[in-house]
Order: sequence, then structure tokens, then C-alpha cells
Amino acid sequence: MTISGNDIRMAKLLFPNITATPEHYEGLFPQRGLTAGAKVTRLAPSPTGFIHLGNLYGAFVDERLAHQSEGVFFLRIEDTDEKRYVDGAVDVIISSLKFFGIDFDEGAGPDGDTGDYGPYHQSNRTDVYQCFAKHLVERGCAYPCFLTEQEISEIRQAQEKRKENPGIYGEWASGRDLTFEQVESRVRSGMPYVLRLKSAGAGGTIHVEDGIRGTLAMPENNQDVVLLKTNGVPTYHFAHVVDDHLMRTTHVVRGAEWLPSLPIHIELFKMLGFPLPVYCHTAQLMKLGEGGNKRKLSKREDPELSLDYYRNEGYHPNAVREYLLTILNSDYEEWRRANPGKDAGEFPFAIEKMSTSGALFDLDKLNDVSKDVLLGIPAEELCGFMAGWAKEFRPEIAGLFEGNETYVGRILDLGRSGSNPRKDLICAKQIFEFIRYFFDSYFTAVDEPPPNVSKADASAILKSYLDTYCHGDDQQQWFGKIREIGASLGYAAKPKDFKKNPDQYKGHVGDVSTVIRIALVGRAQSPDLWEIQQILGEERVRQRIKNCVPA
Ligand code: GLU
Repeated sequence: MTISGNDIRMAKLLFPNITATPEHYEGLFPQRGLTAGAKVTRLAPSPTGFIHLGNLYGAFVDERLAHQSEGVFFLRIEDTDEKRYVDGAVDVIISSLKFFGIDFDEGAGPDGDTGDYGPYHQSNRTDVYQCFAKHLVERGCAYPCFLTEQEISEIRQAQEKRKENPGIYGEWASGRDLTFEQVESRVRSGMPYVLRLKSAGAGGTIHVEDGIRGTLAMPENNQDVVLLKTNGVPTYHFAHVVDDHLMRTTHVVRGAEWLPSLPIHIELFKMLGFPLPVYCHTAQLMKLGEGGNKRKLSKREDPELSLDYYRNEGYHPNAVREYLLTILNSDYEEWRRANPGKDAGEFPFAIEKMSTSGALFDLDKLNDVSKDVLLGIPAEELCGFMAGWAKEFRPEIAGLFEGNETYVGRILDLGRSGSNPRKDLICAKQIFEFIRYFFDSYFTAVDEPPPNVSKADASAILKSYLDTYCHGDDQQQWFGKIREIGASLGYAAKPKDFKKNPDQYKGHVGDVSTVIRIALVGRAQSPDLWEIQQILGEERVRQRIKNCVPA
């Protein structure tokens, strides 16, 4: 590359205050002294206030790649777009990711930056970008462009007419031809300008190895893309190239929506003389829409795209993590079946095993995974989790869980032991609805007694039940009494007797126990009623029955 005196003058004119050189930064941020093969990854969200499943999905990939290889995983905040900046968004990003088990080794943190490769907020790196932008100008690889919006739109119209690709490139890039003097007088008169790359692309094809997708053949970039906006702030293209180089990122994991701009980034790395990291473009998160067609998850249509959704509903982070692993690597489920007790961190995750065609996200599947995961969490621990969830999202019920581990633990453990345990606990919100009848102030009757049981019979059943109830009865004695109560009122003691001679009975013992069940738990279906009574305690059992017997 020839260095011309004019380019040097131009660089000085545009960046009069930038004295640091690229070498300065290269020395400040040397190669990381990691073991061979260690990967350095980063999550680079924009603080828009919306943290979504795609962020978490990518974060898992980053986290696994780094930590499986004894590398480093850091958080960089891409906050160069002031219009999209939302106050407090950085804290939300950090706390949401932390909740789901994503911990960073360095980068932006709740109490400021940690690590030797910062600053980690792009808004604090303006001088660094300007230094490298100046370097490009000095080498004739970037130039100021004074085109107004109006002029750019006229160019677009002319290109449309001539059926040429849109954009500022080649003959359309009139700023390339300005002399130093022309630039100087415009700059001095305060005309706004952007800094553009002087692309060297000539319509060829480039080949690049994507960590997930293998070899990609793409058209070479020929666009004079904007590097610095009129306010001197860098675009994503330029900022991430400078940052990922200086922060010594080895693997750039990001969504497939960035694939089309990959040729720009490759050219930028080349122009700056930086080695290319391994780009890993993850598949878009899809869901099955109406008619069975796959479609992209959308912020507007799909509340489950937001991470807030999972926290609000009270999904346990282990369940979300476990589920995401099933869509991240196709052989995860097989591994899990072979290693039921192992920590998910032991799974040999590999980017080569990731889907490229769209990862299908399915809430029903998440719920199934969650049922299994919750089964492996001890009931008292689950109670603590419920308390944490309630404190944040349902403060009025937090007291039901806090300090109440023994009672709630027994409730959650109902039917969870043995060879065929119940698997119906999914998330905190659903669990609360499921067990709310155990708490007097949240108990309501939702079901009606069976239609074949008259009101008078229902009262008679409950009255006899109360008279004969003995809290110390074992399960058999207890059920024997229900049979007797039923038989005395004309209900078959066994369902099969009723089936044989339906005309001889009003119903069977099942109808009788349903009447009692509804009085005690408000529903026609529930786990084992005898066990429920043991948890409720004698006093509460008697009171609930009494409440249903007319005085
Ligand atoms: N700030 C970009 C985004 O939020 C990051 C893309 C990347 O990871 O490079 O989409």
C-alpha cells in the first residue's frame, strides 16, 4: 500500500486530536496468555431494554465454547446507537443472564467494568475507533463523504432506474474523487460528513469458514460502507471489528441476520491488517406457526421471545438451560438419557453439531423438559425458588413460601417418590395454581359435585364423613369408611359392582369420594386425597368439611 502525503494531511485534518497509533493499542492489549486452543468469546448486546431468547441462546454457545476450552467469555455493551438506548438496560441484561446461569469472566458488570481489555462499553471507546479510522485514512482506505440524505436518495433512484445495486460504491462514490483542498474547505465550513471505507472489492467471490456453517462462498464487498457517522460515532461494522480484534476475540458468535454483512467485515479485517476471528452464525429461532409452517419468533407476536416471559412465569433456570441445550446440539437428548444425573456442563458441546436451518423453539417441549428437571430438584429447594419468584412477581403470596419450607415441601413432594412419580410441576405460576388449595385464603371450589349425586346426598355424605373422620386412620381404614358411607346411601362400594348393575345404584364410591374431594380441595381431580389430608392437618380438614355442611 502506498502512503501518500495527501492522505496523511487528510488524516490530520479529520482527526486533529488523535495522537495514539494502532501500535499503541496493540501493545496495550497484547495477545492473551491462554493455553493453546482456548477460545475467547463475547456477548455483545445492544442495551435496547429487550433481552430475548436469541441473546440467551447465543450466550450459551459463547459460554460453552469459552469454558469448555479454558478460555474467556466477556460482555461488551454495544451502546453506540443513542436512539435505541434504554436506561437501566445494562443491569437488566446482566441480571437476566445471571439468572439463567450465564456468568462472564470479564467485561461490563453491575459495578463497572472488570478485565484488562476494556473499556467494555462502546460509548467509552471513541478514541480507539478514531485512531483506527485515522489509520485507514492515512493509508487511503477511508475517506470523508459529504453526500446529503437527499443526494443519497437521488442516487438510489438512479440506480433503481438503471437496475444497478443500491449503495455508495464505485462510480457512485463521488466523495472518493474530492481533492484535499475541497475536503479541507468543506470541513472548515462545518459541512457534516461521514467516514466511508474505500472498498477494494471488484466483484469477486470470497470463501470463508463459518464455525457452524462450514465453507461459505459469498460475493466480495464492494460497498463504501459508513465507518463513522456524522457525529464521529462508529457503525456496528467498524466498531465490532476494532473491538473484537483488540479484545482478542477468537470466535464471534452471532445471529444469522448478520450473515449478509459478513463480506463487509471480512474486508474491514483485511484493510486493518487484523487476523480474522472464526465467525459462527447461529440459526434463527423459529416456531411452528399456524398451518404447521416454520416462522421466525417475533417480538410483537410471541411473548415467549422475551426472557422476561420465563422469569414472570417462573420457569426454573435449569429447565430453560436444559431445554436450550436440546435445541443447541442435536445429540443432547441422547446424552441426557445416557447420563441422567450428570450436570449439563459435562455435555461435550460442539458448534459443528448446531443446526443451520433454524432452531425450532417449542413451548410444549420446554414444559416437558421442565417437568423432568423439576422432578430432580428437592422439594425444599423448590420452595425457596417459589419464594424468590413470588417476591419478585407476586409479593402478596411470598409469605406462603418464605419460612414455610416444611409445609410447602410436603405439598410439592406429594406423589413425587416411587417408581412412577408424578410429573406435573412446570413453572412457579402454574405450581401455585396447582397447589393453592393448600392455603386457606387461596382455596376456592372450582368444580361441582357429580350430577348423579343429589344435594341432599352430598350433605349427608359430608356429614357422615365428618362424624366418622379420624385423622389417624390409615389409607385403608379411611377408604373403608367412605365405602360404608356410600353404601348406606345407595352408592356401590366398588365401581365394578355399579358397572354390572347400574340400575341398582345411584352411583359408586368414586362419586362419593369426589364429593369429599371437592369439599377439601375444590376440584374433582387431585393427587391422593388421604395424603393431602395428612398435609392439611386435622383441623383444616374438619373445617373445610364443616364449611360445606349446612348447619
Ligand atoms: N450489538 C449486536 C446485536 O445486538 C451484536 C452482534 C454481534 O454479536 O456481533 O445484535
